Amino acid sequence: MSAMSGTPGAADPAGFRPRVPAAEWDDWRWHMRRRITTVEKARQWIRLSPDEEKAIAGAAGKYRWSITPYYASLMDPDDPRCPVRQQAVPAPGELAEFPGAEVDPVGDTHYRRTNRVVHKYRDRVVLLVTEACPVYCRHCTRKFHTTDLDGTYFRDDEGGDYTEDLRYIAGHPEIRDVLLTGGDPLSYRDGKLEEIVAALRAIPSVEIVRIGSRFPVLLPQRVTDELCAMLARYHPVWLNTHFNHPKELTGEAAAAVDRLLRHGIPVGNQTVLLRGVNDDIATMRALMTGLLRIRVRPYYLYHCDNVTGVSHFMTSVEKGLEIMEGLQGHITGFGVPQYVLTTRIGKIPLARPYATRTPDGLLLRNHEGRTLVLDPTTLPITEPDAR
Ligand SMILES: *Cc1c(COP(=O)(O)O)cnc(C)c1O
Ligand code: SF4
Repeated sequence: MSAMSGTPGAADPAGFRPRVPAAEWDDWRWHMRRRITTVEKARQWIRLSPDEEKAIAGAAGKYRWSITPYYASLMDPDDPRCPVRQQAVPAPGELAEFPGAEVDPVGDTHYRRTNRVVHKYRDRVVLLVTEACPVYCRHCTRKFHTTDLDGTYFRDDEGGDYTEDLRYIAGHPEIRDVLLTGGDPLSYRDGKLEEIVAALRAIPSVEIVRIGSRFPVLLPQRVTDELCAMLARYHPVWLNTHFNHPKELTGEAAAAVDRLLRHGIPVGNQTVLLRGVNDDIATMRALMTGLLRIRVRPYYLYHCDNVTGVSHFMTSVEKGLEIMEGLQGHITGFGVPQYVLTTRIGKIPLARPYATRTPDGLLLRNHEGRTLVLDPTTLPITEPDAR
């Protein structure tokens, strides 16, 4: 093991990156303290392009910017189109105006019931625990809440405690699933997180607790055995994370996932379809099969919403459908996520049909484009009359 035992194999041919002793590299607090928030610090890890420098200056005072040394170490030092770099380093696109862009196109604010509770689906809620994240992803769907310096969904007049939020959840026994998100809930220290999870567990109608966290991708060292053991005291606890590119599937990330799984916490993944980052079939196949190798179950592929400051990452729906057809039937069935569009009326699954009704019966097509018609005597399309 080198002095940078934790540093994954990102290209550093010139060797200009800092050498970090393993004891520090493996300590998530070291990364939090050393987060990159200035051009000078970024230059220790990557050679910034003039466009990136311009965007960093333009974003200052508008959007938060922060990168963990761990995530920076995954970046190509020379190529601004590096998929990891694009997710974390500001680009001119985020300051451009796009038609139709909105701060909250999916209407989270409309479904806010208390300071922190978003109740959009009958039996489950989102609990917005924080606005802090270790890295501020340039494509964050809650960019207004997490990254916009003028914005937050939290109201100042309701204080920082959870009394009202917990009262709402306890007062609505139809809520059986609480999803902790933010921001990133693992930004809290273990003790604070435990207070929240324990308070939810004390509500008999809450059946499952879910955590949405990108720490396994942005700073996997944060997922310690102690954290996992704490969460395991409140089972059933599930965790969904957010890998977007195979470059993020490092040894450290795999180890973090393994710690969660060994504590009985199932790990799922929600990918966002991002233009220029992962919008091609080969990348998505490598990502989904790579996730299976580290035992993470692909859950959703989100279409990128037209969120202010994020629109430059948007692809067409056609592109998403094409990628789904490149996955379905071509890789392990449970490696195929569901492609969804988040809207004011909920998440809408998007897919081209594999079966269509015709006068001759059901017309089927497979993943290779072969077709088959099953006539109604073989396969009734409507429920037959009582026999
Ligand atoms: C996505 C989401 C959920 C959880 O939905 P699942 O489909 O069960 O994962 C809950 N509430 C809100 C507001 C959401 O956006
Ligand atoms: S970690 Fe999640 S909530 Fe935080 S900025 Fe990234 S996408 Fe947004």
